[in-house]
Amino acid sequence: MIKTYRTFKTRLLENGVILIGFDNQEKPVNILSERILKEFWLVMLEAFEDKKVKAIVLTSLKNNPPSFIAGADINEIKRITNEAECEAFVSLVHKMFRDMEQSKKPTVAAIEGVCLGGGLELALACHWRVATDHPSTLFGLPEVTLGIIPGFGGTQRLPKLIGLPSALEMICSGKNVYPYKAMKLGLVNDLVSHAPVDERKIETIEKEVFISIAIQRALELASGKKTKPKFGLKIRLASWPVLKKYTFWKARDDIKKSRKNFYPAPLLAVDAVEDGFGKSVYSGSVENEAPIVSKLAVSSLSKNLIHFHFGTEDLKHTETAVKSTSQLKTVGVLGAGLMGSQIAGNLSEKGFNVLMKDLKPEFLSNGLKRIAENEAKDLARRVITKPEYEQRLLRVYPTLNWTDFKNVDLAIEAIKEVLEWKQQLLTEFENVARSDAVFATNTSSHMVSEIAKNAKNKERCIAMHFFNPLRAMKLVEIGVADFTSPETVAIAVSLAKKMGKLPLVVKDCPGFLVNRILSRYLVESILMVAEGIPIQNIDKAAKNFGMAIDSGRTMGPLELIDYVGIETCIHVIESLKKLGPRIQGHPFIADMITKDTKPLRFWLNGKENQAVYQMLQNQHGWIKKKVSESELTDRLILPMVDEASRCLAEKIVDSPDKIDLAMLYGAGFPAFRGGLMKWALSQNVSTTVRLKSLSEKLGPRFEPFLA
Ligand code: NAD
Repeated sequence: MIKTYRTFKTRLLENGVILIGFDNQEKPVNILSERILKEFWLVMLEAFEDKKVKAIVLTSLKNNPPSFIAGADINEIKRITNEAECEAFVSLVHKMFRDMEQSKKPTVAAIEGVCLGGGLELALACHWRVATDHPSTLFGLPEVTLGIIPGFGGTQRLPKLIGLPSALEMICSGKNVYPYKAMKLGLVNDLVSHAPVDERKIETIEKEVFISIAIQRALELASGKKTKPKFGLKIRLASWPVLKKYTFWKARDDIKKSRKNFYPAPLLAVDAVEDGFGKSVYSGSVENEAPIVSKLAVSSLSKNLIHFHFGTEDLKHTETAVKSTSQLKTVGVLGAGLMGSQIAGNLSEKGFNVLMKDLKPEFLSNGLKRIAENEAKDLARRVITKPEYEQRLLRVYPTLNWTDFKNVDLAIEAIKEVLEWKQQLLTEFENVARSDAVFATNTSSHMVSEIAKNAKNKERCIAMHFFNPLRAMKLVEIGVADFTSPETVAIAVSLAKKMGKLPLVVKDCPGFLVNRILSRYLVESILMVAEGIPIQNIDKAAKNFGMAIDSGRTMGPLELIDYVGIETCIHVIESLKKLGPRIQGHPFIADMITKDTKPLRFWLNGKENQAVYQMLQNQHGWIKKKVSESELTDRLILPMVDEASRCLAEKIVDSPDKIDLAMLYGAGFPAFRGGLMKWALSQNVSTTVRLKSLSEKLGPRFEPFLA
């Protein structure tokens, strides 16, 4: 018999198993709102009461793409303002999950697609978990990324199921786990190969292999098969007092190293796990988890992180004035260097055939080697199979010949940052390519209008500016010149989305948005070194402010210059000088490039590079100088605020929120500060007043922009 509720469908099979299919018609994915949880509980209570029901299989009817449950409703978390009300609600959910867990009728979760946050916590409260290895199946507790901790018992159930170290890692990092790892951890009890189906309906769902296995397990459990988790040696060992103490100490130490004290949620999650460890899941949830999650949910930090979450979702779904009708099949990449090889690798991961061109065979083979190394990481993590790994490599076709580019639909150029070379390259491309093929530049500092000055098909020219390392950096700036056609914008945005990136459409300008703003920070750090301020004081000020903390490790501007490469930085600074005298270099930077050896770095083996000081003393009469950390921080951060205001006035982007997102994803501005523009607005003494006083003291480069 089939019953239809607002969000669920149920069907009682003759063998006594009731299938509960989660199908939220109002959203593309299943999420757990307060209303849905209450409806779910009514469905469960009916199943518990019904004498014909022996066991329950809980699954999702979403199949395109498959998703089990994506988590709690973040809009509801955003609206929480009352700690006590929040605690009362999560305690109610703790009761539901406890009753479900203690019911004589076993519940089996049959999972395909995302199983995150509250969705995973619900699955953890089930007696058994069957999952498929569909590419979109993943498990995770991402709550800390929203400034809270898991609130539906996750901090209590997970350690008991998979052991302390792995559970702490999942809870405190918020990172996802893929099916094979989930199986190895004991998070999943049965892993089944995914078999595609056209439609997933409650009427026929038991024909799917993973559902039929879930039904079988449900019947076995109902007939008394033991379901207690097998406490492996690792889990038992981790419970020994000394090891337990060490595990908690290590978790806290790792968090302090990677997150400093900027984000309270991961450390409080460790408290919740530790304080609830010897208790029942229910007691630990109510006494240790509920108060912490409720306190964090009303904090301004959590609200800021949720604001970023929604901004990110908006970027992910960026709409363009016209829809792209182009079916990109073959994409060309010009330049197989650091960026070109990463772009080609990403394209091939997403199923594109890629033509990768460079000047010499050895440059191509180096590029291919880099791609293979990157893809091997996915293979090692068992995110992909060996055949998929090989397919990914085969989809990249290396070439030295332009004639191969006759039929490409779009080419991304990633050759050296030399304007004349890029202009020449575009001419060569247009000589062979179709007139409707798009040319996208990955330039860091030149304008699309300069590169395409002599182009025949200017309307097909655009920028797709990626960031390094490409896998970790989600942002892509789509730089649009006056002459770029809306169709070309739509093609570039659609490609960026297919590449799994966040496209940010910006008006053409030197450095686009991120490098333009970031250059003020980098240039100031260089001027500070020249002035006599020690390298480590400069980087320390930026790190104490939290720069790059969200990548897992704070990083100062001079470390960043070392990472990007001093030569690239010089190219970028040189071409950004056209923005005006506020972008100044210093002659010493050219002396970092030596003829005979590699360019000098500011840092060498974790220490300040004394050769830089030597060179500064010998050639520039350098004398050490002490400046307060607060002044250093102002000198580094305020020019970015100033440049951002100029970008807004010039309509490089249309909102301060977009600047905040761009600086978070492209430049490592710390999320806990709420975003560059939001942080500026929150200052007691206005940033304009502070810039004015810096300009009086240090020169006109700090003169604030007044709209
Ligand atoms: P790279 O020096 O590592 O690679 C450039 C490659 O282009 C080399 O292999 C070179 O042989 C090849 N090349 C040069 N002229 C060519 C031509 N006419 N045809 C084909 N290949 C040619 O440089 P990179 O770091 O990958 O940077 C490439 C571009 O990406 C630059 O515009 C840079 O500003 C931009 N970018 C770099 C970074 C970064 O962090 N390095 C980040 C974002 C954007």
